[in-house]
Amino acid sequence: MRAKVFALCCHAIENARLLLTSNDVMNVGIGNAHDHVGRYFMDHTHIFASRFIPGPEFPAAYDRMYADLFHLNANVGFTDDFIRKEKLLQYYCRFNPVYMDPRTREAMGYVRDGFMAPGDFAYLRDVATMLGEVGGVTRFSLSRTNLRHIQPDYYELEHRLEQAPNPDSRVVISDRRDALGSLIADLDWRILDEDVRSFKIGQERIASEFAALGYGRVELEEITRDLVESRIAGHYHQIGTTRMSDVPEDGVVDRNQRVHGVGNLYIGGSSVFPTAGYSGPTMMIVGFTIRLAEHIEKQLAA
Ligand SMILES: Cc1cc2nc3c(=O)[nH]c(=O)nc-3n(C[C@H](O)[C@H](O)[C@H](O)COP(=O)(O)OP(=O)(O)OC[C@H]3O[C@@H](n4cnc5c(N)ncnc54)[C@H](O)[C@@H]3O)c2cc1C
Repeated sequence: MRAKVFALCCHAIENARLLLTSNDVMNVGIGNAHDHVGRYFMDHTHIFASRFIPGPEFPAAYDRMYADLFHLNANVGFTDDFIRKEKLLQYYCRFNPVYMDPRTREAMGYVRDGFMAPGDFAYLRDVATMLGEVGGVTRFSLSRTNLRHIQPDYYELEHRLEQAPNPDSRVVISDRRDALGSLIADLDWRILDEDVRSFKIGQERIASEFAALGYGRVELEEITRDLVESRIAGHYHQIGTTRMSDVPEDGVVDRNQRVHGVGNLYIGGSSVFPTAGYSGPTMMIVGFTIRLAEHIEKQLAA
């Protein structure tokens, strides 16, 4: 393939894999002279921990029935001042309503979504599970209508966090090949103590503020590294494997998303983000990509 300019926009894991496996000319991979390609992999992380038992005042602040009816979710975050003072990563807490045992909720989902035929053993077992907690199922169903004002028994706290950049969290190349003979990427996704600390302080502050406001009480689970590692999940928001930097020693692309040391190769997508933030990456990806297209257009016209 021959072109004046190339733009690599295959998303964070594949962008890194293509650079690392393109090693005919630069044997450590394109743009990898300083060993940054594939490193600093981040996602938007979340864990479930602790439960909030709402008091009678809570629906005035957050009425779950109203939120359900309009498919809304409320999140509680912190002010910029608090985040800076406590040296926190960006954090917010989501309140997930619980009307019944999680196993009953799961069974209800399978039955509702028609995952199996009505005569199947699994179907009958799930219906039996629902009948075993018919009160919770009824209250959950009513909470989705505007017939009755039904609040959940409690809320599960879902803690959502911006992940801190970590060079050891990375995309690496395995020795396995796909059907076309290309080497497959592996992901070594890691968290730092800083991530655990932000989850912990975030939860503590939510619990103390809600208690002070008289909204209810929190049954706290202690947030430890083990707890975080056993529960952490991402949001398919893959970020950071070809990070942007002013100088080649610190990253992979320059401020115009051109690969350091390569005249005509640009990278688009969240792989160029040096930090992850906590909101969905796609609007920023689109913004950066429009800017990149304009830059390339100017370069070609010059
Ligand atoms: C279930 C789910 C929910 C999400 N929800 C949200 C959300 O609510 N908000 C939000 O902001 N983001 C969300 N995201 C993330 C969002 O989808 C991504 O941030 C966004 O799609 C990334 O855009 P991109 O163009 O960089 O990569 P992609 O959309 O992944 O596009 C990459 C393209 O490159 C192609 N490609 C890959 N490898 C090669 C190759 N070797 N050769 C040629 N072509 C190749 C792929 O086929 C694809 O078309 C979600 C993702 C998932 C999976």
